[in-house]
Amino acid sequence: MSINEDAYDVIVVGSGGGLVGAYVAASRGLRTLVVEKTDRVGGTVAYSGAGLWFPGSAPLSRAGLGDDVEEARAYLRSVVDDPAREPLQDAYLTAGVRLIDELEQNPWFRSFVHGPVPDYYAASPGASPTGHTVFPPPLEVTELGERRALVRDCLPTERFGFDEGPVLVGGRALVGRALSAFLETGNGELRLNTALESLVVEDGRVTGVEVVSDGERVRIRAGRGVLLAAGGFERDRELREKHQSPLTGEWSEGAPANTGDALRAGVAVGADTDLLDEAWLVPGLVQPDGLPFFHTGTRGGIWVNGAGERFVNETRPYDQAGHEIVRLHATTGVRHIPAHWVFDQRQLDRDGIGFPPVTPGPEQWLASGALKKADTLEELARLIDVPFEGLKQTVEEFNGYARTGVDERFRRGETPWDRMFHHIVPFPADPRQHFPAKPSPEWPNPLLLPIDAPPFYAATIVPSDIGTKGGLRIDTHARVLRPDGRPIDGLYATGNTAAAMSGRVYPGAGTPIGSSLAFGYLAVLDMAG
Ligand code: FAD
Repeated sequence: MSINEDAYDVIVVGSGGGLVGAYVAASRGLRTLVVEKTDRVGGTVAYSGAGLWFPGSAPLSRAGLGDDVEEARAYLRSVVDDPAREPLQDAYLTAGVRLIDELEQNPWFRSFVHGPVPDYYAASPGASPTGHTVFPPPLEVTELGERRALVRDCLPTERFGFDEGPVLVGGRALVGRALSAFLETGNGELRLNTALESLVVEDGRVTGVEVVSDGERVRIRAGRGVLLAAGGFERDRELREKHQSPLTGEWSEGAPANTGDALRAGVAVGADTDLLDEAWLVPGLVQPDGLPFFHTGTRGGIWVNGAGERFVNETRPYDQAGHEIVRLHATTGVRHIPAHWVFDQRQLDRDGIGFPPVTPGPEQWLASGALKKADTLEELARLIDVPFEGLKQTVEEFNGYARTGVDERFRRGETPWDRMFHHIVPFPADPRQHFPAKPSPEWPNPLLLPIDAPPFYAATIVPSDIGTKGGLRIDTHARVLRPDGRPIDGLYATGNTAAAMSGRVYPGAGTPIGSSLAFGYLAVLDMAG
């Protein structure tokens, strides 16, 4: 093994949310190295919308929404309902506000903007109908120049060859901005194709990392500390089977190299873990390539289980819907994995096949078998292996709700989140997706179109995820803790490498990346002293 004497102050493992922490460290004059396992930066952050749930942050004040930290604190307390996590929540809330203030000093980050995404638990105290989510501004590819090639693409590009064009949005914009800001500090260095293997411990303190870099094993020193920001273990079959069966990771939308390396390295030096059975779950609509894509905001049709029955408000916030699929599959004895989305020609004409709108048209869906088509409900029931009587009864009941506009079973279309889908569907790359679903005298609730215009269609829904959310236990400085609660000196973790401050729930849009950024920031502040 070669010893790299060219030591750094800070080593950040992973270049998703970790890039922002790396920038903060380098901007304080700390010599900072980012090691990234793949050939591009960004991880799952690059795939994302880059919403950041940062109550009280400057973009919310600029939008006239005031300082809403106390309401958000009450909301977090109520939805997470776990006193042990309250100190982490307080640290998160403070860090989010300060981090945005600090980032906005740098021209690369310019001004974040508020995007009105309602909090996910509308009935809980402190829930905001306008939400607390801020987004980075889009970024022209020309501004990034040659660095564009270093930034991971969005999933529709990686999977379907979608051309994002000259303006990067969401995660690619955030990653491009963070990478540029980091490198331009003059104190930052990036090594791609360099994977953490283990942590170096001397006298009880983490003093560096051992990595495999372009096939060579190398030891690198970190004077102030190591920040583990290598995502979760969503792509690791062994860990998924051990902690999350029946979810194996094949349906995950997390970045491909997120195989729990940092989790294992942390545990090997004595770290405690928490929430390993949890993930940021989403319903996944199985695409013509056989893999699911994040599906939310169902505006027409219904989801049915193996009995041909509805089982959830299909428009419910994605993490809740995803958890409901897994829970019902495990507890009812009725098949919910897979479930099916059943709709008709009217819905197809209005909205297309949902996320991502950039996938091939219905012909390719049909040819691949991802979409089933039938002239009658009876034939469709046979194609998706559900009892016709069950499906018929469910559809008749649903069509009654469509006529009155009230979903008496699951109240679809009644929360601020549901109503957001009257008008918008995220990732509006297909012009059809801009069509507002307006109420009409005939169909008073625009999210309840009847299913009565043949032919009928069915697509497959499985539980997918946008990362696991259990990992190394950390304190309010993002220091990794031992089972007895003492920190491991020199070791920090953030994002999906750490156990989530939000416990088993997903409070609002931008909690995962918000957590990655906030705890990365707190780690660096601690290292900077
Ligand atoms: P990641 O962003 O996954 O980064 C981890 C990095 O570590 C990767 O680059 C990986 O290659 C690298 N790595 C792994 N192992 C090693 C190793 N051994 N050595 C070195 N490097 C390693 N969340 C939000 O909060 N807001 C949103 O708007 C949002 N939208 C989403 C939309 C989509 C379509 C998807 C798929 C996800 C979305 N998410 C969103 C979820 C969010 O993107 C992830 O949960 C989040 O990115 C996790 O951040 P992270 O920093 O922990 O890890």
